[in-house]
Amino acid sequence: MDQVGIAAKETKSPWGAPNQVGAPCSLSDVMSEELAKQLDQECSSFPTCPNVSETLFMGEDADTASDLMLAQMLQMEFDREFDTQLRREEKKFNGDSKVSISFENYRMVHPFDSDCSEDEVDWQDTRHDPYRADKPMTAPRKGFVGKGKNITTKHDEFAPEVQVGDGIGMDLKLSNQVYNALKQHCYSEQRRSARVHEKKEHSTAEQAVDPKTRLLMYKMVNAGILENINGCISTGKESVVFHADGGSMEDKAVPEECVLKVFKTTLNEFKNRDKYIKDDYRFKDRFSKLNPRKVIRMWAEKEMHNLARMKNAGILCPEVVILKKHILVMSFIGQNHVPAPKLKEVKLGSEDMKGAYYQVLHMMQQLYQECNLVHADLSEYNMLWHEGKVWVIDVSQSVEPTHPHGLEFLFRDCRNVSTFFQKAGVADTMNVHDLFNAVSGLQINADNEAEFLAQIEALERMNEDHVQQSGKKAIAIMSDVGPPLLNSDDD
Ligand code: ADP
Ligand code: MG
Repeated sequence: MDQVGIAAKETKSPWGAPNQVGAPCSLSDVMSEELAKQLDQECSSFPTCPNVSETLFMGEDADTASDLMLAQMLQMEFDREFDTQLRREEKKFNGDSKVSISFENYRMVHPFDSDCSEDEVDWQDTRHDPYRADKPMTAPRKGFVGKGKNITTKHDEFAPEVQVGDGIGMDLKLSNQVYNALKQHCYSEQRRSARVHEKKEHSTAEQAVDPKTRLLMYKMVNAGILENINGCISTGKESVVFHADGGSMEDKAVPEECVLKVFKTTLNEFKNRDKYIKDDYRFKDRFSKLNPRKVIRMWAEKEMHNLARMKNAGILCPEVVILKKHILVMSFIGQNHVPAPKLKEVKLGSEDMKGAYYQVLHMMQQLYQECNLVHADLSEYNMLWHEGKVWVIDVSQSVEPTHPHGLEFLFRDCRNVSTFFQKAGVADTMNVHDLFNAVSGLQINADNEAEFLAQIEALERMNEDHVQQSGKKAIAIMSDVGPPLLNSDDD
């Protein structure tokens, strides 16, 4: 079908009939200078920004066939005159005053040239944005769209939570340009903060600090127990450790520097560690009754009790400040926000290393014999070098020797310790068997590790049988030590 014909039929523009589209022409026509001139003239005569009065009196070409259009154009011209008068009155009213009162609300015609483009940007910016729903998408362009409807002004709220000081009772004047810049800023801020928020929720959930945990942390600061919670010292599989500035408590002194050990509330990792708690007679009964989330609090509680025992025995370890659900606050081992290095990281001279070895040996004996505990994760990663001494941390998994696998855990600890110090070049280190016997007071003799382990397991089984028969803990190595457990701080 003929393109020209279609264009002519569809012309209903109030701004007049468009110029007709020429028929396809040859390359030489396109290159002709005459044609170029002609096109140039056509272009310059085309009304770029239609003005109502110009359009109204454009001449006979104007398409005035639509009565509705005509009425609208007349109404618009009337409004324009009204607004001009209003502007004069507004100017007279305000004079030179620095604070001006806006008559904007009473205006009939609202500028649409600059505003249109701003809205355009808004739209383009956000159409693929998942947070676009936050934005009132129904807002049409500002200005005249149809008398009495679809007229949006800056006084139509765009973000109720953002007070612009304009149009809210006080009719203070805010120029459209400023208003639109502000609006644009608000939308981008809302989108940005939504994105940041989501990212934060996501990442913190991964790092154990979900909103509930944050609330608990915030409450501790609010209660003055902590002054400040600073950066994260470590993110492990089961916990996240933060540095905090100590505050004060009524009944006890709070160290100047503290750590918060937040036990992760994601359950996956803890599943592997059930064996450390479900067979620990201290926690056994409760374990079976608790939901997994509460079991995680038991880890924090377990660490607290174990640390308390160790402190009582004079072992160098963090001092417990307070336990809140799955957050354990304790003293910081280190200085000026710098945690003491792990034995793994620190470069010690041979004398210091030898000294460290004997300290560890003594600590293991105390732990076993005085605290009735086996660390169960003892290695160069859980011992810190601070003020020339070895400090032990991370005792949430520590168990009593009567634990069905307690002696195996002790054997593993001994192996870690002797391997580390042997590699570090300490002379006269005990081999793993001797170390085990020295710590436990047992006298297991075996030619090789498999045999040694077999004897350990036999002992453990013996103990289990004894417990089952008598309902009591057994064998000489097991002594009943330890404070009664507190009830966990349930909701
Ligand atoms: P995880 O179970 O994640 O290994 P840890 O108790 O070992 O938890 O703590 C992780 C890291 O946090 C430690 O290696 C140590 O660097 C640091 N840390 C933990 N507790 C303290 C503390 N009381 N003082 C200083 N640093 C600590
Ligand atoms: Mg650790």
